[in-house]
Amino acid sequence: MPLPSVLNGALQCTKLCKRTGIRCKNPCAYGSKVACKTHGSHKSRNVLRGTDHPRFSHGERTKEVETEHRRASITLLTLRDIGDYLNMFNGGHNSGRKPNGYRKYDMSDPEELALAILATVQDRQVK
Ligand SMILES: [Zn+2]
Repeated sequence: MPLPSVLNGALQCTKLCKRTGIRCKNPCAYGSKVACKTHGSHKSRNVLRGTDHPRFSHGERTKEVETEHRRASITLLTLRDIGDYLNMFNGGHNSGRKPNGYRKYDMSDPEELALAILATVQDRQVK
């Protein structure tokens, strides 16, 4: 017996039952257009992604955008650290949680200072 959601217009699984040969009557699961949970809907090729995903609204919070934003934040924080070491700023610091991947360099060590400068320059070359 099909589940109520199929009767209400949900997509039906397109796979055939191995034993009886008739079409599966379960609804599609996990946002899949093809299969139910029994017939492999959770395969990555069947899962809706990007603009097809039902939760997609504007694309400003995708993984790529978040990664780019995190990288830019790390560059800005590193530049701020270099400026603080050179006494360029006389004010407060940014508060809040630092982005993942941020590394606080020890600017008194010349190698660390060079690494910090290289980190900001390499970040620009990536883009
Ligand atoms: Zn099925």
